Amino acid sequence: MTTQALLNIAYLIAAVTFMTGMKMLGSPKTARKGNLIAAVGMGIAILATIFLHDKQVSGMIYGLIFAAIIIGTFIGWYIAVKVEMTKMPELVSFFNGMGGATAALIGLLEYVHNTDSAYKISMIVAGLLIGSVSFAGSMIAWAKLSGKMRKPVRLPSYNIINTILLLITVALAVYIAVERPASPVMLYVLFALALLYGVMFVLPIGGADMPVVISLLNSFTGLAAAFGGFLYDNMAMLTGGVLVGSAGTILTIAMTKAMNRSLANVIFGGFGDTNVAGGGGDATQGTVKSITPSDAGILLNYANNVIIVPGYGLAVAQAQHAIHELEELLESKGVNVKYAIHPVAGRMPGHMNVLLAEANVDYDKLVDMDDINPQFKNTDVVLVVGANDVVNPAAKTNPGSPIYGMPVLNVEEAKNVIVLKRSMKPGYAGIDNELFYYPKTSMLFGDAKDSITKIINEVKNM
Ligand code: NDP
Repeated sequence: MTTQALLNIAYLIAAVTFMTGMKMLGSPKTARKGNLIAAVGMGIAILATIFLHDKQVSGMIYGLIFAAIIIGTFIGWYIAVKVEMTKMPELVSFFNGMGGATAALIGLLEYVHNTDSAYKISMIVAGLLIGSVSFAGSMIAWAKLSGKMRKPVRLPSYNIINTILLLITVALAVYIAVERPASPVMLYVLFALALLYGVMFVLPIGGADMPVVISLLNSFTGLAAAFGGFLYDNMAMLTGGVLVGSAGTILTIAMTKAMNRSLANVIFGGFGDTNVAGGGGDATQGTVKSITPSDAGILLNYANNVIIVPGYGLAVAQAQHAIHELEELLESKGVNVKYAIHPVAGRMPGHMNVLLAEANVDYDKLVDMDDINPQFKNTDVVLVVGANDVVNPAAKTNPGSPIYGMPVLNVEEAKNVIVLKRSMKPGYAGIDNELFYYPKTSMLFGDAKDSITKIINEVKNM
């Protein structure tokens, strides 16, 4: 068998493992294994490319390649092991940016060697353009998610400026692809413009729209890698890129649906343009009723149906194990307990699913928003654990609110609502929540893990 045939077989194995892994990511039960299978496939693709490719390289180059692999593996492993659950979203954004940067670097390096081929230059230019936008955009998303940059930055007429910048960038890309100038200077200008556009594109997007942007950037990186696959005629790279690109696109559509926003509206709409102070107008003026862990325990203990609504605060407090313990305790006392999962709760798609799976919560207990919303009216107690925006009724009642139109969990339809949070501070979208002032709502202030532990102790003594 020729080395080329062996290489193709290795790529085929890699492609199959990517698809199998991706399929297995669909359920928390198989996700870990799926991730591992796809990673093994990627390892095979990398080693096959290094050893079976017909291009001969010197021992020195092999040394550099393996040094880079070892350093990269160590850094990736170290960061992944050390990262706190709450920092996962920004880490994902950062890693996504690295993928975009890699695609851009390929373009910068390969350009001068391929100016004789219109096809290859087209692939290079497309990969560089999309990869650079993805890299720069992901870095801004990383800064926003990590809280380094909270407020959206909007230049006057930013939509016009951004559209003009995009048109100029695309026009330059087309020019380079058609003219194929021997000097890479124009390519460097394209690189700079694409980076600038990536920054300008994500800067004005804020509030609760970030989930959409993150999945969109994810699809960009996949697409940029796929162009690399076309350039090198590398099936593993192509399949990987196409899978990431299409999964990111599907996720983007799912996210826009979950936010009830069109993609154009996210990009050009300027989330948070409305006056956010107050958010709910008069509704946020009123009295806030607080509750003790003992009274919360009584309400939960004597309830028939309880729905737990996890949010970002659950991740901050690392209260996933405690909430699972409370759920099992209540179930042992005959209470029917479910979890309501909002698609954008937390800071990344699937954040709550990952957290609760880590605590071994039965997956069948997690109910998606559309299925759980009709059930709130038959619920005795809703326990909101560190969630805020996803339970804000202003999304339904206040056309002036920046989150108006976003589907939310109808927790206010339940008989009692207990909210676990530390203060009256707003959530990610930066707006007040009228739910906290409703007569049926009681606030249990404090760190969610502490509060749940106290409730558990109270329920145990009942
Ligand atoms: P929010 O950000 O709206 O609210 C979280 C709440 O948790 C805060 O109000 C905070 O209140 C509370 N909290 C924080 N730490 C603790 C703690 N230790 N113990 C108890 N409470 C705590 O979260 P949601 O999940 O409701 O909504 C997610 C938001 O993030 C949405 O706006 C969404 O669009 C956005 N987003 C989502 C992404 C995704 O992909 N899922 C990505 C990017 C953004 P306090 O400080 O008073 O304790």
